Amino acid sequence: MTGRLAVVGLGPGSLEQRTPEATARLADATDLVGYATYLAMVEPRPGQRVHASDNRKEAARARHAIGLAADGGDVVVVSSGDPGVFAMATAVIEALQAMGSPVPLTIVPGITAATAAAAALGAPLGHDFAVISLSDVLKPWPVVERRLEAAASADFVLAFYNPISKHRPWQLGRALEIVGRHRCASTPAALARGVGRPGATLMIGPLGDVDPADVDMSTVVIIGSSTTRHFTDALGHAWMYTPRTYPELPSS
Ligand code: SAH
Repeated sequence: MTGRLAVVGLGPGSLEQRTPEATARLADATDLVGYATYLAMVEPRPGQRVHASDNRKEAARARHAIGLAADGGDVVVVSSGDPGVFAMATAVIEALQAMGSPVPLTIVPGITAATAAAAALGAPLGHDFAVISLSDVLKPWPVVERRLEAAASADFVLAFYNPISKHRPWQLGRALEIVGRHRCASTPAALARGVGRPGATLMIGPLGDVDPADVDMSTVVIIGSSTTRHFTDALGHAWMYTPRTYPELPSS
């Protein structure tokens, strides 16, 4: 008998930020499939089979998961954050199309890093924003540059995923250079690392002071638009936000 398959978003880290639907699917699963780092965010129950794999082998992992479900497993592929944001949902759907397997599939959404980080910072994504992965592992770097240029010149608030890694040391510096041509050095920017995880850190400061040395692969970088503000409240807490109104518009 055919089983079923879900691609589940674990949220950014803490259990409180994981949806009840995700928690229920994880509890029902016979098989958990995913990148070892993300599987470590899940406490398997006794009897669950755990299939850890390398982060770069997305297509193989997707086919493996579909095969397990076709053989009767209740299979969950795990992703951090939301599974549809730079994560496993697309690879699984692509493999399902290629294989033509009659496996019932569900995508279970999760809180993505950018919105979790935004909530911790205040409301920097309160107005139009663009989310860009700086990884050129799966897409050519000129595509990244074209999007950075377009989004920066159109004054979107920017959220960068995959900003830096051992294998991609220079891309963030280059991205900051492109954005810096369109934004003042005083534009508020933030580094949110390991949101919802133990040891999480948040930094808010001017764009001109962003140092790639302070960024790692579990950081989301948020760069304000021309209207983004930051201030420290009466309790000493720093906030970053983007108003939803424009000064030149008459108030209704
Ligand atoms: N599907 C995930 C994103 C995967 S891409 C999601 O929706 O959040 C991996 C990138 O996401 C990391 O390089 C980092 O930029 C960001 N990221 C994931 N979890 C994070 C967290 N807890 N805090 C900050 N950034 C995070």
